Amino acid sequence: MSGTASSTVTFDGRFAREFQEMAIPWRAEEAPDPRLLVLNQHLATELGLDPDFLRSPEGLLLLTGNAIPAGASPVAQAYAGHQFGWYAPRLGDGRALLLGEIGHADGRLRDIHLKGSGRTPFARNGDGQAVLGPMLREYIVSEAMHALDIPTTRSLAVVATGRSVQRETLLPGAVLTRVASSHLRVGSFQYARSTGDVGLLRRLADYALTRHHRAAAAAENQYLALLQAVISAQASLVAQWMLAGFVHGVMNTDNMTISGETIDYGPCAFMEGFDPAAVYSSIDETGRYAYRNQPLVAEWNLARLAEALLPLLHDDQEQAVDLAVGALSEFRRQYSDAWSAGMKAKLGFREGLDDDVASPLVDELVALMQESRSDYTSFFRNLGKAARGQAEPARGQVPDTAGFDAWVRRWLAVAPDADAMDRVNPVYIPRNHLVEEALAAATSGNLGPLEGLLDAVASPFDERPGLERYAAAAPESFGPYQTFCGT
Ligand code: AMP
Ligand code: MG
Repeated sequence: MSGTASSTVTFDGRFAREFQEMAIPWRAEEAPDPRLLVLNQHLATELGLDPDFLRSPEGLLLLTGNAIPAGASPVAQAYAGHQFGWYAPRLGDGRALLLGEIGHADGRLRDIHLKGSGRTPFARNGDGQAVLGPMLREYIVSEAMHALDIPTTRSLAVVATGRSVQRETLLPGAVLTRVASSHLRVGSFQYARSTGDVGLLRRLADYALTRHHRAAAAAENQYLALLQAVISAQASLVAQWMLAGFVHGVMNTDNMTISGETIDYGPCAFMEGFDPAAVYSSIDETGRYAYRNQPLVAEWNLARLAEALLPLLHDDQEQAVDLAVGALSEFRRQYSDAWSAGMKAKLGFREGLDDDVASPLVDELVALMQESRSDYTSFFRNLGKAARGQAEPARGQVPDTAGFDAWVRRWLAVAPDADAMDRVNPVYIPRNHLVEEALAAATSGNLGPLEGLLDAVASPFDERPGLERYAAAAPESFGPYQTFCGT
């Protein structure tokens, strides 16, 4: 079915028009009985979309791709990608469509993208469907990341389609409306490069420069500057993941954006007990995407981007390689600077504190946490209490109390700023047991737990009475956590 959606917002189909080599015009499958499960009213308003319209039957047609708003021209985007290190030349949107671009209140464009909208020519053996649980999971975690100030794609809505989807059992299908600065991925550039059409590669790079890295466009070698800008954005992003205890779970090059936003929340999870080797994805058998490997994997993925961009960096191939290697060599320093600055903020260090004092305090704390496997999120929040003279909650999380006491004494001597700590150390994150509880309830028709969790994680730094269970670690009975590739 296809009709015209009446919303006052004007859609554009810029990517569809300008990149026909990488965009297949396509239509969503009909949703037999669309039902709105969750709507991001605040985000809708920022996009100039009327929440009441989106809730209406016409709005649900738009959110399932069953009515095409004026100006939009839905396409499945082509991209390639390295999945667990293996190159796949043709991935693309197998079960998603880019509806088009619209303006955000900040003056920049946003992609409106429908995930779970049916099979496309990129579907391979997939059924083109998405299941309600994993789409709500992306909604919860992406909105939590946004509230934590970590760059991310956003979630506008999840609509149940009324279609049953065959997984291990029959499960309810759903469409997630994802909002992103763009859906350009490292894999998009790998795809463009693989066509052998340098003109296409250059146009894609120009598009990325105008949408994401405008300052780089003014550089003498703007494509080198683009590579450098993506390297910086990703170094900063991955440092923020590490500081928040976030494990993405599937850092394939098709799941790494050019904008520096986190994308594709599949088998992701927030770590509870501190464990550098933490892996949650059931398919990540070798731990390639373990918590501690994320910076290395990001660097590896960026090297794939650099390879794709080589023909634009310099006419002489050797010089192009030298430029790429030089740019990539910046990643480690930038990552480490961003991580150190973030750790210092988490520990409430004041401006100008001597690095000879700050760095050993950080290193020793990380060693203590690793030894005690203390709950990552609540431990940092409890340190804020310790900075106010109430050491017991944090102390109780470390078996080596003598080691903790010695560390705290030295740390208190630098007068940590407790209020500043509370602004960066969250109380509420989407803990795995709470996410699972919310998804299970929603799947059986009860949206209460989902709404409660969304409310808690939307203001993660603001401790509120009555929300204690959202701040607590999983009960023992929850056991070790595994995610099953969130499809
Ligand atoms: P992801 O793991 O979600 O990043 O997806 C990797 C690739 O598999 C992308 O090309 C997706 O479009 C495709 N894909 C994932 N699930 C499905 C599905 N159920 N049907 C068709 N394509 C899918
Ligand atoms: Mg993906």
